[in-house]
Amino acid sequence: MKLIFLGPPGAGKGTQAQRIEEAFSLRQLSTGDMLRAAVAAETEVGLLAKDIMARGDLVPDEVVVGIIADRIDQPDCANGFILDGFPRNLAQAQALDAMLLEKNIALDAVIELAVDSEVLIGRILKRAAESVSGPRADDTEEALQHRLQVYEQQTAPVADFYAGKGILRTLDGMQEMDEVTSQIKAALR
Ligand code: AMP
Repeated sequence: MKLIFLGPPGAGKGTQAQRIEEAFSLRQLSTGDMLRAAVAAETEVGLLAKDIMARGDLVPDEVVVGIIADRIDQPDCANGFILDGFPRNLAQAQALDAMLLEKNIALDAVIELAVDSEVLIGRILKRAAESVSGPRADDTEEALQHRLQVYEQQTAPVADFYAGKGILRTLDGMQEMDEVTSQIKAALR
């Protein structure tokens, strides 16, 4: 199964993607996690991405498109994958379309988790306070407001793009975590 998880920061995409990864033997590919690892390892990509990420802006499309193109060819993605945090704008969605067409891969579904923005700010500030590894550089209130703005302006249109293809499934991400997981599983059956 080839899936995309879409939703604003704090919607629970990462948690749900991990659960679905395990339940369906897929591989979760989080561009945010991969970029944070690159920043920590101070690779070329990491050095380029560091300040952009701390501000809550998007890393250049060619960087993330390149990361995903390399990653979905790996053997651990043979049974399927969940793209978590990618695509983040229409240009990335179109680049992904071209990439999948070339590889003869079809997307099965795009799962969108819808959550009110007031709920998101509370959730993320709580996540930052509880993080054992320390808060993320972009979990400050200022960067968060900006990430939500970027989501509205650049990422929300991606949902319409997949709605047009008839594969968008929008779920209420404000329910209990287990309930959201059940609904995703039901949507995928
Ligand atoms: P996330 O962990 O998905 O919230 O991503 C954290 C940050 O990584 C984002 O605010 C962006 O700066 C960067 N990032 C992650 N995925 C992408 C992407 N697909 N395109 C551009 N930037 C991204």
